[in-house]
Amino acid sequence: MTNRRKFLKSTVFSGLAVTTAGLSSMACEASKPIKKPIVISTWNHGLEANTAAWEVLSKKGRAVDAVETGVRVTEDDPNNATVGIGGFPDRDGVVTLDACIMDEFENCGSVAFLQNIKNPISVARKVMDDTPHVMLVGEGARRFAVEKGFKEENLLTEKSEKAWKNWLKNQDYKPKINVENHDTIGMVALDDMGNLSGACTTSGAAWKMHGRVGDSPIIGAGLYVDNEVGACTATGLGEFVIKICGAHMIVELMRQGLSPSEACKQAVERLVRKYPEDYKDLQVGFLALSKSGEYGAYSIHKGFNYAVKSNDEEELIDAPYYGS
Ligand code: ASP
Repeated sequence: MTNRRKFLKSTVFSGLAVTTAGLSSMACEASKPIKKPIVISTWNHGLEANTAAWEVLSKKGRAVDAVETGVRVTEDDPNNATVGIGGFPDRDGVVTLDACIMDEFENCGSVAFLQNIKNPISVARKVMDDTPHVMLVGEGARRFAVEKGFKEENLLTEKSEKAWKNWLKNQDYKPKINVENHDTIGMVALDDMGNLSGACTTSGAAWKMHGRVGDSPIIGAGLYVDNEVGACTATGLGEFVIKICGAHMIVELMRQGLSPSEACKQAVERLVRKYPEDYKDLQVGFLALSKSGEYGAYSIHKGFNYAVKSNDEEELIDAPYYGS
């Protein structure tokens, strides 16, 4: 009985301590001026995508519309070998696309292993808005897209077919760090109303096995949004982002009071600690935005960058990294 009472007492006190710490960090956040609207996205292609997203944000539009509009620019670019049309195919020569989207109400929609439709992000948006489901894959996702009026087209461009035929000569499957064989666009935004949303879209790892799905369409891995706390997106070798539930972990670390940069750094450090044999040969990068418009990023290796656009900045920033 005494022991139980002691236990209860210490639990109550430690609970109070956590609550007090949480409250003081929340009070601190609340006193900061909120930087909005703002949009951030992964890699060089983020600059152009942010410009399109800004069209929506600057007219006081919703963050979810901004991120969908923004990443479609990258999906539409046939010269981009990692997203949408022109994306490098799998080892069978088939282009398969993955994407997901999440809004301020924590509604989410996702498609994976989608073929012949160049804007998977908009199909994911339709899954979110028009179905009782979160995720549709493969043939079911394609049929749904066609029913919703999306046009079917060949996504394998001459350039990516040539690259695939070249790869076939040696058939060496080794994802390379920061090279254009895996460079998703992940975008998160905070709108004028103070709401967060995010989108993530990719053709996945080049020369992947047919049927392979990475982190990008997985809610909690490639993307996560909690409108009370923040949003996070990921890029890099998806298998390792999935293994640590990367984006969700980072939002939860932010909930505990970490800044976006610190939260991204801790997630990378956890990956490195858990996979000491693997991390040297693979890249993973995280990008996060808080409810107050503070942002940050971190990657395993040098080379990950991200684009930021707000009322007073428009730039490409090199993310800090762990190193080898
Ligand atoms: N995360 C993506 C995937 O593994 C690729 C990337 O971001 O580079 O499919």
